[in-house]
Amino acid sequence: MTTRREFLETSAGALAGLAFVGCDLLAARPARAQGRRRETMVGGKRVKVIDVHAHCAVAEAMALVGMKLGDPTPATRPELNMITSVSGRLRAMDEQGIDMEALSINPYWYKAERDLAKQICQIQNEKLAAACAANPDRFVAYATVPLQHPELAAELLEEGVKKHGLRGAAIGGSVNGEEISDPKFHPFWAKAESLGVLVFIHPQGTGVASEISNRFKGNGFLDNVIGNPLETTIALSHLIFDGTLDKFPGVKICGAHGGGYLPSYPARSDIGCSTQPLRCPGGPHGAIKKKPTEYLKQMYYDTMVFSPEGVRHLAAEVGASQLVIGTDYPYPWTTTAVEVVMGAPGLSDADRAAILGGTAAKLLGIKT
Ligand SMILES: [Zn+2]
Repeated sequence: MTTRREFLETSAGALAGLAFVGCDLLAARPARAQGRRRETMVGGKRVKVIDVHAHCAVAEAMALVGMKLGDPTPATRPELNMITSVSGRLRAMDEQGIDMEALSINPYWYKAERDLAKQICQIQNEKLAAACAANPDRFVAYATVPLQHPELAAELLEEGVKKHGLRGAAIGGSVNGEEISDPKFHPFWAKAESLGVLVFIHPQGTGVASEISNRFKGNGFLDNVIGNPLETTIALSHLIFDGTLDKFPGVKICGAHGGGYLPSYPARSDIGCSTQPLRCPGGPHGAIKKKPTEYLKQMYYDTMVFSPEGVRHLAAEVGASQLVIGTDYPYPWTTTAVEVVMGAPGLSDADRAAILGGTAAKLLGIKT
């Protein structure tokens, strides 16, 4: 049985620098934001802007492991300027020109035994579905899954999609120190591929006790600023180099925070094996079918890179067709998700419309 302390330690690593916000958007009645929604036009046409990276939490599920919103963990840093109500959330979305959010819950249940993990995820999936049903024109959601029990995760993903109308799964970039490319997780990837739904990968942190974590101490919030994108970089690299994307070529993956550092420096992944062939047995890039950067161009990435130039570079490396908007709401990282796409050099109107919402609508089954 996992203790509350173990959960808090796990979640502290997973959620470092983040803060939970109450899903009082779970209220049954549709909430109405005050004021006017900012509308985004591209080439004279109204675009439905869809944020694929927005968080919430379900207190009822957290209570099962003795956690509560407002616990004194790194997940609830008091200096963060949180907006806790659905009306506040809708107001912020309206102000920022976000028409819809795809809600996700950062995993804190990866150490839970099977029955408890199932209960947590089922409660969350029901509540996420209720939140979406209360404001169906503003929210869709990803299922939560107990990835530490891969067969059960596959089962709950299917239940979430078919029974609750959820649009995919949100998972961590690692599970209790194990890579999500490990063959033990293949049942989950097989299910995601067969359902044709998006898997949103969000970092869990690089581990509270790892050697690299020690180097993140001190000024700068480095465990998050560097550690989170680094974990996504590692996770996506393993999915490529361990052959997961060969085995499940139809799986749709979206990497948080612009895919971490991987799309910033992808050519090195193509060259590494030729410099050390003994480290890559089985072929020019090890036993994988394509050049690593080709896999990079089949995954999706949110545009949480904070600058128009960052978006331009992402598009140049992976293709504008692979980008979707992300805000990390309610964590106060950005209020200019739309602006960085509108201001990115070199994009066509069609590119901008796709990044702002067209591509996410297709991936998440949203009518535009
Ligand atoms: Zn996030």
